[in-house]
Amino acid sequence: MDKIQPIVTALSQPYWDGCSKGLLRLQYCPECRRHQFYPRILCSSCAHSDLEWVDVTGKGTIASFTIVSRAVSKAYQSPYVIALVDLDEGPRMMSSIVDIADKPVKIGSKVSVAFEQWSEEITMPVFRIL
Ligand SMILES: [Zn+2]
Repeated sequence: MDKIQPIVTALSQPYWDGCSKGLLRLQYCPECRRHQFYPRILCSSCAHSDLEWVDVTGKGTIASFTIVSRAVSKAYQSPYVIALVDLDEGPRMMSSIVDIADKPVKIGSKVSVAFEQWSEEITMPVFRIL
C-alpha cells in the first residue's frame, strides 16, 4: 500500500522539482518581499502576480505538533509526529518530524528540512530536530 500522493499541478511543479533535488523552494513576492507557502497564483499579501521561486534555508521552528498513534493506513508507521513548522523565511507549513528516537519533540524546537522519496514523482519534505 502506498502513501497518499499529492497531486502535482503546473503551479506546484517548481516546488516538487526542488524537493526532488533536495531543495526546499518557496514562492517569493518581489513587490512586498515576502515568501509564501503553499503555491498560489497571486501573492497572498499584496496580490502581485509575478512571483518568483527561490531556494530557502529549510530551517524552522516547531509551532505545534501532534503525535499520531493510529496511522491512517498501513503505508504509515505509527506513532509519527505531524507538526506545524514556522520556516525562518516566514511561512508556516505542515509536515512530519522524523528520526525522533533520541530527541524529544517540543514547541519551539529548531528543525531542518530533510527529504523522503515517496514515489518516482514525489519527494516529500520532512523535518529533523537540530
Ligand atoms: Zn506581495
